[in-house]
Amino acid sequence: MDRIDEVLAQLPQEIVTRDQDIISAYTTDFRRHYTGRTTAVLRPRNTADVQHIVRACAQRHVPLVPQGGNTSYCTAATPSDKGDELVVSLERMNTVRDLDPANLSASADAGIILSDLQQAVSDAGLLLPLALGSQQSCRIGGNVSTNAGGISVLRYGMARDLVLGLEVVLPDGSLYSELSPLRKNNSGYDVKQLFIGAEGTLGIITAVSLKLARKPRQTVTAFLALKDISTLARILDAAQIQTGESITSFEYISDASLRLLLDAKDVLRHPLQEKSQHYVLLEATTVSPVLDLEESITRLFGELFEQGLIMDGTIAASGQQRAELWHLRESIPEAEVHHGGSVKHDIAVRTSQLAAFIVEASRIVERNAPGAIPSIYGHVGDGNVHFNLVPPALSDKVEFKNRLTREISPLIYQLTADMEGTFSAEYGLGRVKMDLLERHGALGKLRVMRILKTALDPKGVMNPGKVVA
Ligand SMILES: Cc1cc2nc3c(=O)[nH]c(=O)nc-3n(C[C@H](O)[C@H](O)[C@H](O)COP(=O)(O)OP(=O)(O)OC[C@H]3O[C@@H](n4cnc5c(N)ncnc54)[C@H](O)[C@@H]3O)c2cc1C
Repeated sequence: MDRIDEVLAQLPQEIVTRDQDIISAYTTDFRRHYTGRTTAVLRPRNTADVQHIVRACAQRHVPLVPQGGNTSYCTAATPSDKGDELVVSLERMNTVRDLDPANLSASADAGIILSDLQQAVSDAGLLLPLALGSQQSCRIGGNVSTNAGGISVLRYGMARDLVLGLEVVLPDGSLYSELSPLRKNNSGYDVKQLFIGAEGTLGIITAVSLKLARKPRQTVTAFLALKDISTLARILDAAQIQTGESITSFEYISDASLRLLLDAKDVLRHPLQEKSQHYVLLEATTVSPVLDLEESITRLFGELFEQGLIMDGTIAASGQQRAELWHLRESIPEAEVHHGGSVKHDIAVRTSQLAAFIVEASRIVERNAPGAIPSIYGHVGDGNVHFNLVPPALSDKVEFKNRLTREISPLIYQLTADMEGTFSAEYGLGRVKMDLLERHGALGKLRVMRILKTALDPKGVMNPGKVVA
């Protein structure tokens, strides 16, 4: 019997799946860039099962790959192709443990799907202010492990800002449990922070306690055509002032991304009469029954027109129109796939420098990769932009993308570093960006990360080959 068989023999058989037809869904990443192998997928029912699994694996030095919804954009949740790792899917651990409306908090098992948790919170009259394009499949443990961002970061912060407590099975099988939903707790090191954004390399999160918000009573969604990209930060500032800092989302969409989308989907229509090179999808929300948000946004439009900053704009007149505007934004990744996929750069720089970054990075592409289509969009209110490059229509797409990755990506990352930005704003590192951390990471950061990894996981059983070697 080899070590993996010894581990599997020790576990309750109800949580072990060896059927390779079922397993294949767990070994390929969402973007189909990497396929690994495994003998079995383990699907624990509760925290005690997770502890049982981790202890058995630690004893026999068998590595584990924690998996939530497997929507990672950097193949962080797939096992290696050597077949020597076991996948632990949290999917069966999906109950809401506690919901305390008066404390504005909830706790849930790590395997609950984000949209299910949003719904449970909404049924209680509140809002879980974490929202991303993958919310129908990603799971809250995965969101915390990647410190997910999304479309409401501007107002509510990233996953890290919403986490009040965690329950984590450590790499030796012992439990760290601090789930109590306190707003203040200065009793020593803030240990939970270590596991947020660790991409499963320091332990398996089994439950999460989260901060909630009141449900907005008013939502106003608008789509603007900008005259010039250099005014992005100024427009955001004006919008915040005009609405009393009620802007929840401020999303940039380049004309190139919109054209890729309208070309890929016949049923979609351009939302504005006037065409521009640059658009913003803006959303403001408030819990106040007194403030008139629509009036604020209308005034904003007037001000921006008067100053010559926008050429056109529309305010969604119904829930249906609002959904249509968001559908445009959220369908861009799909449109890129339709046109042969893209080479992605998930960049953040200071919001004040974002427009300059987009201009300079576009120049680099024009000079060095004529024909490549820069599909640029993203959560620019947080200084985060997805600077993606799509191969031209009549090219060998795979070959063109390989060349972009080899020759253009390093230039984009160098520009980001020169502007003191980051090469990974929200997707994490997984197995694909470890080398970038070595090249562009902050001085001493990698050393501290290695010290922490070795201290908590001396046998290297937690998601090896990801984040830190
Ligand atoms: C269409 C689409 C849109 C997206 N939009 C955004 C966006 O706007 N913002 C954003 O930040 N991301 C976005 N993503 C990326 C992805 O959805 C997020 O990173 C998400 O948080 C991953 O959650 P998951 O449950 O799928 O995790 P997985 O992909 O399963 O895992 C991600 C990492 O977390 C680890 N992990 C998972 N669960 C646990 C656990 N319980 N304990 C310890 N480690 C664990 C895994 O080992 C892996 O390293 C998008 C992805 C898609 C496909």
